[in-house]
Amino acid sequence: MAADPATIAMNPTPSNPRDVLLRVDGLKKTYSAQGRDVEAVRDLTFELVRGELTCIVGPSGSGKTTLLRCISGLLEPTSGSVVLDGAPVKGPPRGMAVVFQEYGRSLFAWMTVRQNVELPLKVQKMSKSERTRLVDQSLESVGLAHSADSYPWQLSGGMQQRVAIARALAYQPQLLLMDEPFASVDAQTRADLEDLVLRVRHQFDVTVLLVTHDIDESIYLSDRVVVLSSPPSTVREELEIPLPRRRDQVTTKELPEFAHLRAHVFRLIKRESGAETPDAHDSSSLATAGEL
Ligand code: ADP
Ligand code: MG
Repeated sequence: MAADPATIAMNPTPSNPRDVLLRVDGLKKTYSAQGRDVEAVRDLTFELVRGELTCIVGPSGSGKTTLLRCISGLLEPTSGSVVLDGAPVKGPPRGMAVVFQEYGRSLFAWMTVRQNVELPLKVQKMSKSERTRLVDQSLESVGLAHSADSYPWQLSGGMQQRVAIARALAYQPQLLLMDEPFASVDAQTRADLEDLVLRVRHQFDVTVLLVTHDIDESIYLSDRVVVLSSPPSTVREELEIPLPRRRDQVTTKELPEFAHLRAHVFRLIKRESGAETPDAHDSSSLATAGEL
């Protein structure tokens, strides 16, 4: 029997199925430490769409770092799987780069900025001129071209984190993982670094997964937000963020949709932790709700 044309119009076959770069399926991680088990991640399933920026938001101790370490192949999950571009992740894959929270510990103090950024490229078969081109391009993109010959300890915290971002970008990853990358810098530097990430993700055409405990940051940066439950973590909810792609610290955060999204995520997380949920119209209590 021929299909009713009206039904076809109402239920179109998706012409553009999700182009999945990474799939995390039933991920569980239990640590065994000093004779007792710590269940850090209970059951996480989600996908990253190629080209998107996804934030995972959850409170401290909800297993975010554990999750990123499992995704990057640095830690073996207790069960479940991570698949990058169709290939199961068994160890650190070539296509991923990680930016950690502690920029101070992730850079080598005795190497210049240029040498730090170039280091991961040296293990690849790449000509010196190609390495130089990639290092120059990535330092330029984070606004540090003039600091190439400085040492990390000569730079501010925000600048050091920009070096770590440049190093990750120079590596040309398919997927950039960031673990609370702006948690240790002041508010203005944090806003600048957020905007830097929004800029370079387009410039380098990279898929980004960033974990944060900051609700505002997760909404401001993302195409999609995955909200974790209280520990041991499961996925509480996944939200698409339908804000205009071009974000601005002032105008985006003024939008009513932004306020609704942050209130929604805040309630999800507070309900989880059993804390009181602020009234929907009580903007004063939400003013401080961004940080978990
Ligand atoms: P988050 O990054 O969200 O703060 P973590 O992944 O660091 O969370 O930690 C989740 C839980 O796992 C916490 O209870 C933490 O104490 C525990 N944990 C993390 N790393 C280890 C480890 N190496 N050994 C034992 N327990 C750990
Ligand atoms: Mg962490």
